[in-house]
Amino acid sequence: MANDGRVTLLHEVAERRLPVARLEPVIGHERYERLMTVAARVRKRLAGRTIWNVSSVAVGGGVAEMLQVIVGYVAGADIAIRWTIIGGDPEFFGITKRLHNQIHGADGQPDPVGSADARYYEQVLAANADELLTQVQPGDIAILHDPQTAGLTAALARAGVRVLWRCHIGIDHQNDISRAAWDFLRPYLSAAHGYVFTRRQFAPLWVPRARTWIIPPSIDPFSAKNAELGPESVRAILTTIGVYDGDDPAGPGSFLRSDGTQGEVSRAGLVMGDGRPEPGDPVVVQVSRWDRLKDMAGVMSGFASHVLPDGNAYLLLVGPSMSGVADDPEGAMVFAECLAQWNGLPPKARERVLLVTLPLDDVEENAAMVNAIQRRAAVIVQKSLAEGFGLTVAEGMWKGRPVVGSAVGGIVDQVVEGTGILLQDPADLATFGSEVRWLLDHREEAERMGAAGKAYTREHFVGDVHLLRFAELVEATVG
Ligand code: UDP
Repeated sequence: MANDGRVTLLHEVAERRLPVARLEPVIGHERYERLMTVAARVRKRLAGRTIWNVSSVAVGGGVAEMLQVIVGYVAGADIAIRWTIIGGDPEFFGITKRLHNQIHGADGQPDPVGSADARYYEQVLAANADELLTQVQPGDIAILHDPQTAGLTAALARAGVRVLWRCHIGIDHQNDISRAAWDFLRPYLSAAHGYVFTRRQFAPLWVPRARTWIIPPSIDPFSAKNAELGPESVRAILTTIGVYDGDDPAGPGSFLRSDGTQGEVSRAGLVMGDGRPEPGDPVVVQVSRWDRLKDMAGVMSGFASHVLPDGNAYLLLVGPSMSGVADDPEGAMVFAECLAQWNGLPPKARERVLLVTLPLDDVEENAAMVNAIQRRAAVIVQKSLAEGFGLTVAEGMWKGRPVVGSAVGGIVDQVVEGTGILLQDPADLATFGSEVRWLLDHREEAERMGAAGKAYTREHFVGDVHLLRFAELVEATVG
């Protein structure tokens, strides 16, 4: 609530500075020195101007995950950066979710976004813009993330803010559905000074190439999501979540928070499954939001029909608890569909397939839970039907796990020769199953792939690479 009694839409994510110096042991002296030199230059160029990030959620999903880290390191380098979250109601997020699905070219969209949606979208964003304009200064840089915020561009640009629109989603080959979504967005974006995409292929043709930047996201080796966790902690966390049976004598699993204090995983997840893996059993994991494009349903079918029959593996399908992700109204429906599908599995499969939802009350606790689950995996899968980048792939690779991923979007940039297995046709469940089986049966090769994946992630997807590209963009935008 604002002081004058008005309801505020925007809320700012509290600043959380991350010490850049901790990257040095991971990236080496040379990469670190380069980063520090560029940070000093950017600080000077900005000369007191602020970089704003505007997105639609602070937790849940890849964008929030990435911003927590990037904004933290930029702040840690003493560069003025802020992150604010727009407000909206279920109708607004219903529109933006449909837009999101359409940009991914998803068919089965009964209701393409149209002019009535445009009016509502504009109305909600105009109210957000009014509040934002009381905070930004001419000359500031605003990075607007994804379609949810595109409609803020014109108002900010008119106020003298340099506006960059960063789109984290897309498909490699546009179709009529995705083109219609881009037609919807195009007028809102014309005043942007620059555009950022995860892959070159994602940018529609009308986006001026000279003002387009390609920046894939990155992972942070020190976040609760990716930091080392010993086997005892993994076991304790899995017990607390409810993936393992019984009480853990060692107590709750601990992890390091970004403020340097020790956190403990104390909340349980919701685990649906008639059996539980024992510590030695092979486990296959997919972590995703409950989104049809992640194809949790296909992973379940493929596993039940083509992995289970000749093995003792378990499948964990893991996602956020339903109340957690505000801009994802479809989540509950997709989870309910998965549950119905699970109920229809034969008894043996219901013992081996676990649906897990993780509480999001404490983002870092949730991250530690994901970390423990990914470390427990013998194989990580990401069988998406469409994908922007697919941070879960880099997260799995960073933990030295072999990945079976669909050959869509940014997964193709991560699962390269020797770091995992690409599924050319994500709908081919028999091939999916046999690739997973192969990795479960060939542990030496699987471990080699995992190690190669870790090295590749260190080279390409650790924060400094991302920060350097971000710095280039900021320097070009400040002018
Ligand atoms: N994630 C999470 N908790 C969950 C489910 C997902 O923290 O219960 C995280 C996951 O670890 C990853 C991000 O959400 O960091 C998903 O990013 P990705 O790029 O894979 O997909 P997106 O959700 O952006 O489509």
